[in-house]
Amino acid sequence: MNHYMPVHVFTGEYAVSKNEIEFSRYGKRCALITGKSSAVKSGALQDVTDTLTRLGVAFCVYDGISQNPSVESCISGGRFADQFRADFIIGIGGGSALDAAKAVAVFAANPELDEAHFYQKLWQEDPLPVLLVGTTAGTGSEVTKVSVLTDSSGKKHSIHDDRLFARAAFGDPRYTMSLPASVTLSTGIDVLSHCAESFFNRKADEISRAFAIRGIQLLYEPLLKAAKGETLSLIQREELYNASIMGGLAICGTGTCFPHNVGYYLTENYGLPHGFASAAFLPALLFMVREKEPDYAAQFYRELGITEEALLHLLQVTLPVNQIRMTEEEIRAVLPRWENNNSVLNTCCEISTEEIREILVQEFIKG
Ligand code: NAP
Ligand code: FE
Repeated sequence: MNHYMPVHVFTGEYAVSKNEIEFSRYGKRCALITGKSSAVKSGALQDVTDTLTRLGVAFCVYDGISQNPSVESCISGGRFADQFRADFIIGIGGGSALDAAKAVAVFAANPELDEAHFYQKLWQEDPLPVLLVGTTAGTGSEVTKVSVLTDSSGKKHSIHDDRLFARAAFGDPRYTMSLPASVTLSTGIDVLSHCAESFFNRKADEISRAFAIRGIQLLYEPLLKAAKGETLSLIQREELYNASIMGGLAICGTGTCFPHNVGYYLTENYGLPHGFASAAFLPALLFMVREKEPDYAAQFYRELGITEEALLHLLQVTLPVNQIRMTEEEIRAVLPRWENNNSVLNTCCEISTEEIREILVQEFIKG
């Protein structure tokens, strides 16, 4: 496999101020891209603006990014950055703000670009340089070349391109201390999905598997503790954050597989947070692989040193009670979406559209 991992990653407490020279490399003006409140609550915005002020870099803040960000908000952010004549972009927040920052960098460099041409990657100019400051331990967007956005019809799509890699990412676990309990769980369980979906991916190899296994090992104890309602120490927050970077590096090579893609539907139609939505399909993935690829499943648990039972327990205590109810007609109507879908095809064992139907019926009609 072609492993390209070009992001300079700075982790640990005070990662921003300790590495402030990184903020002076890309120009004298920058646009900060954030959600409504997390950049402030986490303390990350303050650290970044203090650093920019010290360095004499002019900045403006665009805080118009919502969860599951729309392409439209990225177009607005791009115009905002262009009008400010930004030389570079800094994304601060969870996966939503970081993914949006990557797209804003494209639109800022190509102010005339529309949604269709964005998705077709018909970008005349390369995106502006991007720095990312993460505030959730979840998506690993800091190290991926992926931006997941919601299009004008309300559907989530991921766009993958080497030009979307950030120049540098800063992961200070202190920023995740302000996460509400439920966001710690939904973002933490997303890390488990990334690692498992990467391991059980047709494209997996020795390198991606190493990241996937280590990521799950790192996240297991702190996530279980958080699911029991206990407060996490800074060290445990750091373990979760490092696990999220491992998950990002794992999917960087392989991409995700069917749980993420089917999960998008739960987020779009039922508002379920991204991490819970993908992980809802992890038990089905684990059962399917055990049945169809028993040797590979055994290798997974052997390398992990964690049993299937223990992994299912973690999922059970972390996921919220399933309150989603679908009809047979609804399921039949949405199924074509997963015919010849790349993420479904990337699953290490064959999975038919009929099997996806059965999973949805089991979970959301009979379940
Ligand atoms: P998020 O949508 O970025 O954030 C969830 C919520 O938590 C938001 O309300 C956010 O507030 C808040 N929040 C974030 N950090 C906080 C903090 N430190 N303190 C207090 N509140 C905080 O959640 P996410 O799970 O990190 O990102 C999910 C998105 O990433 C989805 O769109 C998903 O599809 C995408 N994703 C991307 C990749 C990739 O490789 N690029 C991989 C997987 C998923 P604000 O709204 O104020 O920011
Ligand atoms: Fe995810």
